[in-house]
Amino acid sequence: MRIDEITNGIVIDHIKAGKGMQIYHFLKLGELDCPVAIIKNVNSHRMGKKDLIKVDTPMDIDLDVLGYIDAGITVNIIKDGKRVNKLNPTLPEKLVNVIKCKNPRCITTTEQEIDQIFKLTDKEKKVYRCAYCETKYSSD
Ligand SMILES: [Zn+2]
Repeated sequence: MRIDEITNGIVIDHIKAGKGMQIYHFLKLGELDCPVAIIKNVNSHRMGKKDLIKVDTPMDIDLDVLGYIDAGITVNIIKDGKRVNKLNPTLPEKLVNVIKCKNPRCITTTEQEIDQIFKLTDKEKKVYRCAYCETKYSSD
C-alpha cells in the first residue's frame, strides 16, 4: 500500500496527535489482515499536528467508539480511489461494550455475559455512568 493512496477503504483523519494508537486498539484494527497504516504527527493547518489512520479495506467503523474518544475526528470512505462519504462522529448517548465498569459489586463484574452499557450523563464534561450501578467512568 502506498501511504498516500487507498483504492477501497477508510481514512480516519483529524485525530488528535498521540491518539492514533488508542483508536487502533479500540477499533481492533490489529485483528485485520489488510494493510493498516498509522501516520503520526502529520502537520495540519487546523490542528498543528494530527494522527491519521488508513485502512486498505472497506469496513464498518464504530462511530460511537470514535465519538467517545474524540468527536473531532473525520472518517473518509474511499471507493475506487475517490472519497465517496465523509462522516463526523458525535459524542454517543450510549456506549455498549466499549468501556468496562470498575465497581466490583456491579452486576457486569459478576455476570460476565451482560453487556457493558454506559450512558452519557453530562455532555459538557463528557461523563459516562454505568447503566446498572451508575458508577461514573474514569479512564485512569
Ligand atoms: Zn456498573
